Amino acid sequence: MSMLLHVCCGPCAAYPVEYLKAKGFDVVGYFYNPNIHPYKEFRRRLETAEEFAAKVGLEFIIDDSYQLEDFLRLALDAPEGRCRECYHLRLRQAARYAKANGYDYFTTTLLVSPYQQHDVIKAIGENIAAQEGIAFLYFDFRLGWHEGVKISKELELYRQPYCGCVFSERDRYQKPRKEKG
Ligand code: SF4
Repeated sequence: MSMLLHVCCGPCAAYPVEYLKAKGFDVVGYFYNPNIHPYKEFRRRLETAEEFAAKVGLEFIIDDSYQLEDFLRLALDAPEGRCRECYHLRLRQAARYAKANGYDYFTTTLLVSPYQQHDVIKAIGENIAAQEGIAFLYFDFRLGWHEGVKISKELELYRQPYCGCVFSERDRYQKPRKEKG
């Protein structure tokens, strides 16, 4: 049972990797996240994911293409919300890689976060699976969110303070201006 696990970052991979290995999957990580801003943060998350993979002995494939313009175009022209486009972009790439390289299944570490739109990720994964001809397996990894935080702290991994894109970075740090007078 070969599983390509789309990895959004090292800390989010901690619990899903442990869970999938325990269930008998032959797991390979796959990093593809051109949504992350700024580029220095993208490199830092990529390096942390690599560090995690090395520490737990996970085979890890990296696609470090960074199509910033494409991502922004999608995010700005997104009638149903930019996160939907962002999930779709990343999961479609993972599905295509999995299909082209003979994996049985694909899934994503995005399903571990209580801050993501869980049902939307599930629906998009299943939809892409039907389009690309590769099985998507759904897991509610949120059940292991605290376990994943614990593992990532034990492994001393960098934990990012915002979701990833420039919009989420603004929302994390922008403070309302104080009224004068
Ligand atoms: S908030 Fe997160 S999921 Fe939504 S578009 Fe930004 S990086 Fe993607």
